Amino acid sequence: MANAWNNWSGFVTASPKQIATPADAGELAELVRSAPGPLRVAGAGHSFTPLVQSDGTIVSLEKIEGLVSHEPAANRARVGAGTRLGALMQILQGIGQALPNMGDIDKQAIGGALGTATHGSGPTLGAYHTQLEAVQLVDGKGKLREYSRASDQDMIHAIGVALGSFGILTEVTMNNIAAYRLRRRKWVLPIGDMLRDFERMMAAHRSAEFYYIPFSGYAQFIASDLSDAQPTQRPTEDDEEGLATLRKLRTVLRRLPSLRRALIKGAVKKVPAEDYVQDWLNVYVSDRRTKFNEMEYHLPYEEGPKALAEIIALTEKHFPEVYFPMEVRSVAPDEFWLSPFHKRLTCSIAIHHDAANDPRPFMRAAEPIFRKYGGRPHWGKMHSLKAADFKKIYPRWDDALAVRRDIDPENRFVSPYMASLFGIEPSPFGIKK
Ligand SMILES: Cc1cc2nc3c(=O)[nH]c(=O)nc-3n(C[C@H](O)[C@H](O)[C@H](O)COP(=O)(O)OP(=O)(O)OC[C@H]3O[C@@H](n4cnc5c(N)ncnc54)[C@H](O)[C@@H]3O)c2cc1C
Repeated sequence: MANAWNNWSGFVTASPKQIATPADAGELAELVRSAPGPLRVAGAGHSFTPLVQSDGTIVSLEKIEGLVSHEPAANRARVGAGTRLGALMQILQGIGQALPNMGDIDKQAIGGALGTATHGSGPTLGAYHTQLEAVQLVDGKGKLREYSRASDQDMIHAIGVALGSFGILTEVTMNNIAAYRLRRRKWVLPIGDMLRDFERMMAAHRSAEFYYIPFSGYAQFIASDLSDAQPTQRPTEDDEEGLATLRKLRTVLRRLPSLRRALIKGAVKKVPAEDYVQDWLNVYVSDRRTKFNEMEYHLPYEEGPKALAEIIALTEKHFPEVYFPMEVRSVAPDEFWLSPFHKRLTCSIAIHHDAANDPRPFMRAAEPIFRKYGGRPHWGKMHSLKAADFKKIYPRWDDALAVRRDIDPENRFVSPYMASLFGIEPSPFGIKK
């Protein structure tokens, strides 16, 4: 009997023949050799694209988690690839290490975060995969392989943005930093000022990002910098309360757009500024309870403000149902072959749509704007790109595909969706003959 699987937002569903939770690399290797294909590995199911979807076998590494070993002098730690980021933070804090940066939440598995080039914000801070020192994986034939930056840097660059397609990562060694403390500040400013001063304001902080509140004309800027000061109280989170107000105004004032604008503007201007100091693990992440679907494109840094201005105009003219703030971040360039940050400083822009409604008309209208400015899609967020598009976007695309073929010659990890991304003939989808 088929099993039911769905992603966080509920937009992607699957009915695999089997959902497997191997206890160790040995059990995983046996599954790869014998389970019904295609085999797709799931992290925490927090991607919005059908990367994990399979009608064969979905593999969860929830039992392959926790600290394997660590090197205090090098601030290096090896963990099971199924370790959730929340658990990883606690593990690292316990051994005096820290992640240099984080995204908005800590629910993902580290294998899943590496799977889609998950990132936080900061012009000198790379995405999680840039911390990779070494990996252990099970290949498409069920064999264990090990690669390290020291012995084969190219392989780390080829497979670090893992996509569940370059083997199933079982253990990862990450280069971390010593535990640290951050001063976090948040304030509101007119979006015109934000767009004009974008490069200066983002570059002035270790980590900075901003949210544009649709129909308000205002942005909320968030900056984090290293601090030696004593910790102070982190303010109680009010993101969900704010979202509920924005949704209510959207719904109640559907026929009164000017009043909606005036009320949102008034409310946003009154949001109090924030300023606190906390240990790294108490700063980055927040709770995201209201479900949404999301598109995020990674653009050349200097194109960010122009693209955002067009996205705002599009939204406020044609998509009055949108109420989620738009998120704008920066990410450091890196050398990974399938990284959307490959060799370029990036401005990332994310748009969200309530999971209760069909997000596709909004995403379809926004995507050409992102693409016009040279955007590369987040692998885990909604986009419509296929193999031919990626070949143009990624200079090492063909090299990456050659590595994929070597790791998975029988296409055990290739579902119909992955076939469309890689330009592989759509049969027999990893089903062993
Ligand atoms: C509320 C919310 C907030 C988010 N915030 C951010 C953010 O701040 N920044 C950002 O960049 N993204 C963000 N995302 C997107 C999310 O971080 C990515 O989609 C991430 O990949 C999800 O991790 P996961 O563990 O759920 O992996 P899944 O979605 O389950 O899998 C993602 C990919 O990783 C592969 N994979 C998983 N485990 C392994 C493994 N062991 N070996 C090889 N491949 C593997 C899967 O096959 C798949 O291809 C957010 C998503 C949500 C829902």
